[in-house]
Amino acid sequence: MMMFLCPICKNSIQWAGNPYRPFCSERCRLIDLGDWASGRYSIPGEPVPAESVPLSETEEKISSTENHEPK
Ligand SMILES: [Zn+2]
Repeated sequence: MMMFLCPICKNSIQWAGNPYRPFCSERCRLIDLGDWASGRYSIPGEPVPAESVPLSETEEKISSTENHEPK
């Protein structure tokens, strides 16, 4: 019979048929999720700046249209 230790409460629990593994119960699973939500495991990273849409292409299209002489 496979047993394991709950990483939250360190209790020894049976692995087979446990829907909450690797935790012993839903309570410990929610505790672990709470750690994630609090940012304990968050990975620091710089925010990606939103680059502006390149205007050169749009300006070229407008100018070409304006330069077109109507007949
Ligand atoms: Zn537990």
